[in-house]
Amino acid sequence: MHTAPIGFKARADEALADATLKLAITRTAGNAERKRTAAVADFAPFGAARERGKRIKDHVIANLDHYLAEFERHATAAGSVVHWAATADEAARIVVELCRQAGAKRVTRVKSMLGEEIGLPHALDAAGIERVETDLAEHIVQLGGDRPSHIVWPSMHRTREQVSAMFKRAHRVPHGEETVEAMVDSARRELRGKFLSADVAISGANFLIADTGATCTVTNEGNAELTTTPPRVHIVTAGIEKLVPTQAHAFAMLRLLVRSATGADVTQYTTFHCGPKRTGDLDGPEECHIVLVDNGRTRMLRDAALREMLRCIRCGACMNHCVVFRQLGGHAYGGTYPGPMGAVLTPVFDGLPASRDLAHACTLNGKCREVCPVDIPLPTLLRGWRDRSWREGLEPPAMRVGLGVYAWAAQRPALWRLGTAVAVRAMRWFGRDGWIRRMPGLGAWTAHRDFPAPAPRTFMAMLRDGETPR
Ligand code: SF4
Repeated sequence: MHTAPIGFKARADEALADATLKLAITRTAGNAERKRTAAVADFAPFGAARERGKRIKDHVIANLDHYLAEFERHATAAGSVVHWAATADEAARIVVELCRQAGAKRVTRVKSMLGEEIGLPHALDAAGIERVETDLAEHIVQLGGDRPSHIVWPSMHRTREQVSAMFKRAHRVPHGEETVEAMVDSARRELRGKFLSADVAISGANFLIADTGATCTVTNEGNAELTTTPPRVHIVTAGIEKLVPTQAHAFAMLRLLVRSATGADVTQYTTFHCGPKRTGDLDGPEECHIVLVDNGRTRMLRDAALREMLRCIRCGACMNHCVVFRQLGGHAYGGTYPGPMGAVLTPVFDGLPASRDLAHACTLNGKCREVCPVDIPLPTLLRGWRDRSWREGLEPPAMRVGLGVYAWAAQRPALWRLGTAVAVRAMRWFGRDGWIRRMPGLGAWTAHRDFPAPAPRTFMAMLRDGETPR
């Protein structure tokens, strides 16, 4: 939905040159990594819980039609209206239309990456409906006029010094002291009245419970509860892969989600919404709508090479541990979802021609899979996109010719030995102290880092002479 007009490499160069961005990423991602490591170490059954989580999601994905029908039946019985959206545009249209029908002038929104995926902030703005982001980080994103750069910490790209300056410019009663607590108070003062005067509340869902028709939302700020309770209408948007069979399964997944996302044992607020206000309830919405969004998910379901990605519970651990994300931050990825999971998902939403660089940016070090709480083989999925990119002829001509020559020469041992001998000699000539800092043909590599000069003897020569390679 949101691919920026310039390419990945240009965005990456911009991000690499931004020292403030680097500071902001290091503070938050470093903290997240440390907290997750400690939380997992403190929770002995994490390995077994991970296996179970993977089995739950695989079971739901294999029986998605059954659980979707069950969810719709129970949600309808609870008084919700279920809407189906095949595409992002259709989902955004349904939400805007529901807001119009409710006569909404102001809507409050709880952070939801699905909302970003379907372009909801833009659709609401374009419809002239005032949108109030109630999550503190999303409030910062809205004030900055930019997009989330992380799926759990949307304003990760901002330092607290930048946030302080933004709040002072935008809030009616800004903070006096330069403390995080004072800034939070400032946001609270600014947002509190808007919570209470909104006509419609829009939230996402971390899980959809098939056997009750409830939706489950987790937050640490309590903004989901404040957002969804006062307005007359509550709209939930959720991807169809968010289903779990029962509430007990949702709790099993929550144990993985929270530890992997924030390193806490439990989130501050876990809320289950099940239909509108009933007779005798003191508060709650009079109408509840649930918009179930496909937007490429059934295509992923049919595709054996991508199906495992539907297990994703959007915890963000893969990006917190990714060496590329830690250098660039989220905006450089160009799509809604950044990091390793974003590099897999963006080609699904934006098409491979517009996003083929993402799979190539990966070092394939495997850390993302290691920390993924549902064991998604992200490096394998990224290699799959590289393979498709090659088969669809999307790689640049120079790479195709180079690899063609390589494959041709590699099948001719005499020619290969001659070629490598010449190349190794040339590379040694350019090497200084074991490193090549500049060499014709290696410019794209040496522009950012040195290249190791070849060892004095090749592996094949050592093998031939009976030497043990070190
Ligand atoms: S791919 Fe795994 S680690 Fe990454 S966000 Fe999804 S569940 Fe979390």
